[in-house]
Amino acid sequence: MKIDSKHKISLTGEYNAGVSDCPECGYSTSPTSAYALGVADAPNGTVLIIQCPECFTKWYFHCRDTEFYDGHYHYFVTFLEYGINHWLNPNMTEKL
Ligand SMILES: [Zn+2]
Repeated sequence: MKIDSKHKISLTGEYNAGVSDCPECGYSTSPTSAYALGVADAPNGTVLIIQCPECFTKWYFHCRDTEFYDGHYHYFVTFLEYGINHWLNPNMTEKL
């Protein structure tokens, strides 16, 4: 997966197998890609970093790009190509 360097940020937060649900307060982000801060390189591969809108905890999950309809991959594509990002684009008017 080619990722524009403008989307790359430093690895932060903790790995969260729950993907969409905040590991701290349980808030379920939807759509998860709207709460992404950026993409980072982690020991387990390329990850998407999410920030909880309730408690501001950061977490990440890795990209599985072997299957187009895999939810993880979908979140990456949505963030990188079609993202309407709550944090970077709060008034939802600009495409990333
Ligand atoms: Zn939270």
